[in-house]
Amino acid sequence: MLASLHSILQDVNNIRRLDQLLSQVVRRIKEATSSDACSIYLENVERECYVLEAAAGLAETSVGKVSLKKNEGLVGLVCRREESLNLENLFEHPCYQRMKDLKDDHLPGFLGVPIIHFRKVLGVLVVRQRWKRYFNEDEVAFLQTISIQLAGAVAHAQMLSNKSASGQVNNQNQTITGIPGSPGVAVGVALVVYPAADLDAVPDRQVVDIDAEITVFQKALSEVRADIRRLMVRLSSVLAPEDRALFDAYLLMLDGGGLVDRTIERIQKGSWAAGALRDTVNEHAHFFEEIEDPYLRERADDIYDLGRRILLSLQSGKRKPLEYPKHTILVGEEVSAAALAEVPVERLAGIVSANGSRSSHVAILAHALGIPAVVGAINLSVGKMDKKNVIIDGYRGCFYPSPSAAMRSEYKRFADEERELTTELNRLRNKTAQTVDGFRIKLLANTGFSSDISAALACGAEGVGLYRTEFPFMARERFPGEDEQRLIYRVVLDTFSPSPVTLRTLDIGGDKHLSYFPIKEENPFLGWRGIRITLDHPEIFRTQIRAMLRASMGLNNLQILFPMVSHISEVDAALGIVKSVFDELVDGGLHIQRPKTGVMIEVPSAVYQAAELAKRVDFISVGTNDLTQYLLAVDRNNPRVAQLYDSLHPSLLKALIQVTESVAPLGKPVGICGEIVGDPAAAILWIAMGVDNLSMSAFALSRVKQVIRHFTVPQAQEVLAKALQCEDADAIREILSQALEEVGLGYLVRAGK
Ligand code: PEP
Ligand code: MG
Repeated sequence: MLASLHSILQDVNNIRRLDQLLSQVVRRIKEATSSDACSIYLENVERECYVLEAAAGLAETSVGKVSLKKNEGLVGLVCRREESLNLENLFEHPCYQRMKDLKDDHLPGFLGVPIIHFRKVLGVLVVRQRWKRYFNEDEVAFLQTISIQLAGAVAHAQMLSNKSASGQVNNQNQTITGIPGSPGVAVGVALVVYPAADLDAVPDRQVVDIDAEITVFQKALSEVRADIRRLMVRLSSVLAPEDRALFDAYLLMLDGGGLVDRTIERIQKGSWAAGALRDTVNEHAHFFEEIEDPYLRERADDIYDLGRRILLSLQSGKRKPLEYPKHTILVGEEVSAAALAEVPVERLAGIVSANGSRSSHVAILAHALGIPAVVGAINLSVGKMDKKNVIIDGYRGCFYPSPSAAMRSEYKRFADEERELTTELNRLRNKTAQTVDGFRIKLLANTGFSSDISAALACGAEGVGLYRTEFPFMARERFPGEDEQRLIYRVVLDTFSPSPVTLRTLDIGGDKHLSYFPIKEENPFLGWRGIRITLDHPEIFRTQIRAMLRASMGLNNLQILFPMVSHISEVDAALGIVKSVFDELVDGGLHIQRPKTGVMIEVPSAVYQAAELAKRVDFISVGTNDLTQYLLAVDRNNPRVAQLYDSLHPSLLKALIQVTESVAPLGKPVGICGEIVGDPAAAILWIAMGVDNLSMSAFALSRVKQVIRHFTVPQAQEVLAKALQCEDADAIREILSQALEEVGLGYLVRAGK
């Protein structure tokens, strides 16, 4: 049974069409378990029932016909129990319900295993036996193992075939719920971005000029043909005969036959070449996947490989550059900074990403650009979204792929109101961030791109609380040299002078990669990142510090911040390096003022040693993005656990209080610079905690200022006291929203006035 298990699991992972997958699985399970029948029922959301989708050993005609209401029969019982049901004789069970079309009166033995994906029961896998018997432990474990894998494949296939578990994507006003990545609303046209050479990620697109599209496809074919010939020549001496045969087979397929003809047929029906290729490759590969012979089955991989080569060539060909609609909403499994950078700023209206969480970098970028974003939308069928008129609500983390006209006009009104609000709030630019009773909080900007420096200046930021130096490093193909860095830092220091500018030392590792400094680790977020890397590479660190110090000459507004500190010794070592570089430059005759230094509190150990850390430096900055991830043990980029990632979790509030209270006696300023700072509602908490400064994206600044200017410290303390009574983040969010509504500021955290 074990050998069958592996090969069935392979099928589950490889066969992409759901009907083929299910019929293959039931047939193979029946064989492997020597049972007399095997069947799969899946939920049909609209009809509110479970439908028999595949069967082996039962009447073939019953597939698609037999169905059970949710509260009916043993299938319904398995779903309600969310647990396997093993019966010696199902006919004696009170829940048994006879379905005559099934013709199963001779099969008393029953084992039903639920198919569950992310807590949601999708259906049931059933095996039946001709005689009365319980299935044994091995058989139960066998079916459970398959069912777990099958659940992922079913969910994925349903999504791709436009039938998400929650209904049809085409349903008007259907909501796809993700996580609020950046506030705001937008009505626009979806533009799907996808990684190169990934057939599954290719979206559906229609073309008008069919002949031109066929030419593009044929050009790609000849390029791949030429590539393969070149490869054959280059490898001729080392190629084994079977490999040569493989290349010959590739050439044959490229010269004509099913793969080429069927793709052209699809293009003739209006599909663009990439989409036509994707469907043809899948169709051909499935044919091989169905074959019993393992050698022939493996040929499916060759077809995928060839398909990817053609796709790559299609993508690298001289195709027209993408046309960006006036209100572009970028949609992707993952929306990269590069994809964002390609959209003209005035056309970019929103971002929807199937991956990511509140503090992943796509959310940070959206914040920085002041556009709404929904992230972690795992039920999104990305490939079906291209060119659709869509709506995004970044406050609630909702995406509407097929909104009605009424809904579109409602959201257009919200978007207009929001624009008005932004103009109104911009009037606060020169006003101080001070509570009604006179408590002053400095509002600073987070930056890292040259584009957001001017935005930060325009919104009235009183300096830069966090400049992520890794961003300019990430935008290059090698480490930037000292002078190159000096010029980059000089721009931001000069722009804000005499206000302070906090340059954070290189914070790579985790999810921030440099293409020219690859790091492969099992647990990158717990590994080599931030200060750990720069201390291990003093040559990188010293160059950066020297560039920062030289950039600050004559401006004297530099503050240096150390990221990812978990041990006191790291701060001592970093300070030692700063001192030594500083002394060297001063000894060399440069007039440089000693910079202020600070430590980021981003890991729990630093929370508990905040006072010891603060003693050594001039200021403290709490990075709630990482602190949330490490305190809650939730990867900030993993959509599977994104619902658990919340910087308003009560333990975060307690950690922040611990930091502010332990640093207060030292009189050193404490600031906060994670994404939660951009949430206007959270400002009430920071007032109550007596935080000295807040650093956020430029877009959020006036909203946060508006809140600060509407509360007194005792009022805020009352709200914090209530929040501390709460047991979860949702309850805290509710209390904060209510407090905002009470002072007439509810519109800051929801769509519409
Ligand atoms: C943080 O962790 O809160 C932070 C501001 O740093 P980054 O998001 O760049 O990791
Ligand atoms: Mg961080």
